[in-house]
Amino acid sequence: MAGEKILIVEDEPEIADLIKLYLKKEGFVPCWSASGATAVETYRREKPELVILDVLLPELDGLEVCRQLRKETNCPIIFLSCKGLEMDKVLGLAIGADDYVTKPFSPSELLARVKAQLRRSRVLHQGSIPAKPEDSPCQVLKFPALEIDFRSHEVKFHNKPVSLSAKEFQLLALLARNPNQVLTTEQIFDRIWGYDHNGDTRTVMVHIRNLRKKVEEDPSCPKRIVTVRGVGYKFIEQVTP
Ligand code: CA
Repeated sequence: MAGEKILIVEDEPEIADLIKLYLKKEGFVPCWSASGATAVETYRREKPELVILDVLLPELDGLEVCRQLRKETNCPIIFLSCKGLEMDKVLGLAIGADDYVTKPFSPSELLARVKAQLRRSRVLHQGSIPAKPEDSPCQVLKFPALEIDFRSHEVKFHNKPVSLSAKEFQLLALLARNPNQVLTTEQIFDRIWGYDHNGDTRTVMVHIRNLRKKVEEDPSCPKRIVTVRGVGYKFIEQVTP
């Protein structure tokens, strides 16, 4: 875990310094961008493993920075949101953030989230979330019009690459590795967000909705990731047009 680079996008130097201090203490290598306008550039230069992104930034706000980052990376993004900005939470998840911490936050809580995200992201890169423990994980899963490559972390829909957030990828991977089985919303939440997240199952709904926009012919009438009313969701292996 030590040595991983983490980008902090935060316009308030005191907060950035505090986060830097805590990250360093845990052996991480922090880098800092003080504005949204320079965040993407810094990301490209530093290639961090994770981004901590303030929502309220001058010039370009955190939501816009997140949108831009998502065009080029699946790395975990944790939002620093302000109390009372309830919409930002939902919107943040909708545009591809993986988690959020509300200001004022405790540095140890932020650190726990950072570690949890890195752990999950690492598990994914190793392609090791087998649906059934006895199965060795398949490296590439192919379905009609959909291909999931666990080695490169790439998803293709109709042979075109789709950009997914780390959480969206995990969600798709979990569903696709359990085809034609109902997974309850709680199971999905536990598996992907887990014990160290204090969100709720609505988060699952938001991510399913985003995922459908990317891997369904008609997201309003899903045929691949179907809702099993009152229970959860099911990934259909053979989607007929
Ligand atoms: Ca700010």
